[in-house]
Amino acid sequence: MLQDNRERTAESLNIEPDLVRLVYSSLPLTVMAILLNSLVLGIVMWNYIDRETIVIWFLVANSISSARLAFYLKFKSLTPEQQAAPVWREIIFASSAASGAVWGAVSIWLFPHGEIAHQAFLAFILAGMCAGAVSTLSPLLSSLVVFVLFLILPLIGRFLYVGSIISYEMGVMAMLFTIMVLSNARRLNETLREMFLGRLKQQKAKLIIQYQANYDPLTDLPNRRMLSDRLKQEIARASRHNYLGAVLFLDLDYFKNTNDSLGHSVGDDLLVLVAQRIQRRLRDEDLVARLGGDEFIILLSEIGEEFSEATENAQIFADEIMELFNEPFDVDEHKLHITASIGIVLFPIGKVTPEDLLQKSDVAMYEAKDAGRNKIRLFVPEMQKAVNYQRQIEKGLRQALSDGSLDMYYQPLFDADNNMFAVEALLRWEHPEKGVISPADFIEVAERTGLIIQVGEWAIKTACSDMVQLSEFRELKVCINVSPRQFEEPEFVNRVNGIFEETDVDPAKVRFEITESTIMNHVEEAISKMKELSEMGVTFAIDDFGTGYSSLSYLKRLPVDLLKIDKSFVLDIATDPNDAIIVETIIAMAKHMQIDVVAEGVETEEILEFLKAQGCSKFQGYLLGYPEPFEELFGRQGRLHILKPV
Ligand code: C2E
Ligand code: CA
Ligand code: CA
Repeated sequence: MLQDNRERTAESLNIEPDLVRLVYSSLPLTVMAILLNSLVLGIVMWNYIDRETIVIWFLVANSISSARLAFYLKFKSLTPEQQAAPVWREIIFASSAASGAVWGAVSIWLFPHGEIAHQAFLAFILAGMCAGAVSTLSPLLSSLVVFVLFLILPLIGRFLYVGSIISYEMGVMAMLFTIMVLSNARRLNETLREMFLGRLKQQKAKLIIQYQANYDPLTDLPNRRMLSDRLKQEIARASRHNYLGAVLFLDLDYFKNTNDSLGHSVGDDLLVLVAQRIQRRLRDEDLVARLGGDEFIILLSEIGEEFSEATENAQIFADEIMELFNEPFDVDEHKLHITASIGIVLFPIGKVTPEDLLQKSDVAMYEAKDAGRNKIRLFVPEMQKAVNYQRQIEKGLRQALSDGSLDMYYQPLFDADNNMFAVEALLRWEHPEKGVISPADFIEVAERTGLIIQVGEWAIKTACSDMVQLSEFRELKVCINVSPRQFEEPEFVNRVNGIFEETDVDPAKVRFEITESTIMNHVEEAISKMKELSEMGVTFAIDDFGTGYSSLSYLKRLPVDLLKIDKSFVLDIATDPNDAIIVETIIAMAKHMQIDVVAEGVETEEILEFLKAQGCSKFQGYLLGYPEPFEELFGRQGRLHILKPV
């Protein structure tokens, strides 16, 4: 089907078949005219020419007509493609030549000697034949030319041969007539060609528009619209015949990296190769469409009657699709290794629409991504609940951004001498129904949906303008959490700079907390952003240290002045020897590299003592101070009115 469509639109503008068809359509009329003319001619000449010659000529002329009629009937029974075969054009040429020759023979065999009036009559009949041929044969100029020349040249020759003044004049007239007939035929031929070409162009334009509406121009796969139509049909068919089909949502893993690092044209070529590989694996009745980007939908019709059987078949098929990615893809000189995540949903279960199926398979695909990518997941209703929750959060968060129900709390960080040396800015969201929602819950949703860009910007702006109030505590830094997607945003540095200017905050008072994974996702980019910011005076802390890659080697290259040991280790150091060892190791290594360490999650005296014993000198935790609103922590004038005793 794919091939058909491509060929049909790529077809050159060939109007020959149309012209041939036009000539065939006028054949019955031609045959009738020949029959009548030959009859009249025979009758008129009956007394002036040898009768046997007349009869033979008549029979020859009309048997050629019969043959033409037979060809006409055969031609009519053919399909347009068969009619386009060149042989049908050749047949017209040959039969025109034969017919022309037979009528040319009239001037040789049926010429009434000495009968000037009858000679004129004969010339008149032949001229009529020529004129008739112009109207029927001009679509095919070469056939017309042979017909006319074969017909008229013997007559001209005959007149010239007779040698009287009047016959010379007749001969010259016949020549002029021929020239006129042929030039008229040429003009008619050109007009016809233009007309057909115009019509064909229009048809082709229509085909192209249809194609563009239904196919993806890059991969030539059906697009979302065509997929939707097919899905609708398949759902109806499956319900009617009681079988199950499946929709597979396939999304390439880390495709963006390929696009970003090797360029869009390599990315495009990769998509084309992926499309071709999938296409080749499918059965005729299945379909693969491209939704856009690196998202493909595979529609499997009829994969079983029982749910369990259909599930198993869909899984087997998805496994096969995954295997297609074992071999690298050759794009230019690159050998690209890429994997895919697949979400599957079966249909029809209940009343479903194509949109439902796409949405559910999308949900399952996201589960596959969450499970670490390069995975297959079958949609189950529980997944939908999670998605609905996420949608609710997303909607609420958008609302919160505009109606001011986001808040910023600050948690103090202390050094070994009980001095508060920094605060960490922690978001709070007062949900109208759900109460206070922890950032641990909504930051993830914000990350997924991209809302983090606005939420994060709000957080940085709020923390900075709050810091400006703290005139008496110049040394106090504010630690602001920055999530991966927020940091990876190309405009991040510019936006931050804009906020610094707007709030008039001293950048040296700002420390961004980022995680190891934020850096490791795009090392070089991250480093260059960190350097740019550190030139403004900003410092960095590595957050949740110990949970990520924990490869300390890169830290030397970074403007990082603080490691925050994740609270998951700290909370258990008193009871879990493994955690104790991890914390000890981190503290020792950091000391060696001359980077400060803060322990998060200091909830008890016991923990605090243990940390101090290990040489840790900076602390954050409920024992020392909870996250609180700015006014609670610093008072209305921004003065510190509480100092937690240690
Ligand atoms: P985080 O960066 O690890 O922040 C520390 C979390 O530990 C905070 O949770 C804090 O309230 C909590 N915490 C502090 N001391 C203790 C303690 O002694 N015991 C225990 N069990 N927990 C303690 P919170 O405020 O719920 O924030 C959760 C996470 O949300 C943060 O983890 C951070 O990753 C993220 N987050 C918060 N605010 C922002 C923000 O403005 N932007 C971004 N991108 N992320 C934020
Ligand atoms: Ca943090
Ligand atoms: Ca943390």
